[in-house]
Amino acid sequence: MKILVPVKRVVDYNVKIRVKPDGSGVELANIKMSMNPFDEIAVEEALRLKEAGKASEVVAVSIGPAKTDETIRTALAMGADRGIWVKTDEAGIEPLTVAKLLKKVVEAEGPTLVILGKQAIDDDCNQTGQMLSALLGWPQATFASKVVLGDTGVEVTREIDGGLQTLRLDLPAVLTTDLRLNEPRYASLPNIMKAKKKPIDEKSPADLGVDLAPRLEILSTSEPAGRTAGIKVGSAAELVDHLKKAGVL
Ligand code: AMP
Repeated sequence: MKILVPVKRVVDYNVKIRVKPDGSGVELANIKMSMNPFDEIAVEEALRLKEAGKASEVVAVSIGPAKTDETIRTALAMGADRGIWVKTDEAGIEPLTVAKLLKKVVEAEGPTLVILGKQAIDDDCNQTGQMLSALLGWPQATFASKVVLGDTGVEVTREIDGGLQTLRLDLPAVLTTDLRLNEPRYASLPNIMKAKKKPIDEKSPADLGVDLAPRLEILSTSEPAGRTAGIKVGSAAELVDHLKKAGVL
């Protein structure tokens, strides 16, 4: 059984985001980029299924411009077997287009499971897994916090408002990962070295017959309003006074 894991290259979660002066997006030049954290969880889950003897191959796929192969290498260093890079000129391909490209990769590769992150931390769209499942006509379980894979189906526990829900899906299926599914491993130095020799197959969107023309237009990007400076109070009574004036008490 093959597992396909789409991994996105995003601004590292520790980086303080800066909006471009013209509001057209965020600065990406000379910024530390990393694998989307939910995708690390997806790679980890696929590797655990392989180590448990339930999967035979883990393939990492990423869609993006130059240097996206670094993110695929990270997945290979964690333990994925090989990579596929759908090379684009620009970053920021929108979810429907990503889902269409992934559908083509799925058709060519024939995985039994596709495990995506629940959302990419750059655009917070939370759409790609759902759209891919719809395009493929496969069942989906989003926000997975536990995955039990059988021969003909997969049981997935999902985090929902106020509790947990467990679903049974027929295979093949699309899953998306939530934060508590697992704790991803760090790549060891020997595995980082080994990953350099693992194959990454390059494809263009044209090879896959998908048009990248966007359907969404970003009208503006802005920073959140800055916080106003605080004040120091001399006593508890003064604090209470201020809180009353602010309408908190
Ligand atoms: P989103 O719908 O943009 O929040 O992304 C959800 C998930 O889709 C991510 O966690 C990835 O697993 C996958 N994904 C989104 N964009 C890409 C991309 N450019 N390349 C590979 N996977 C992607």
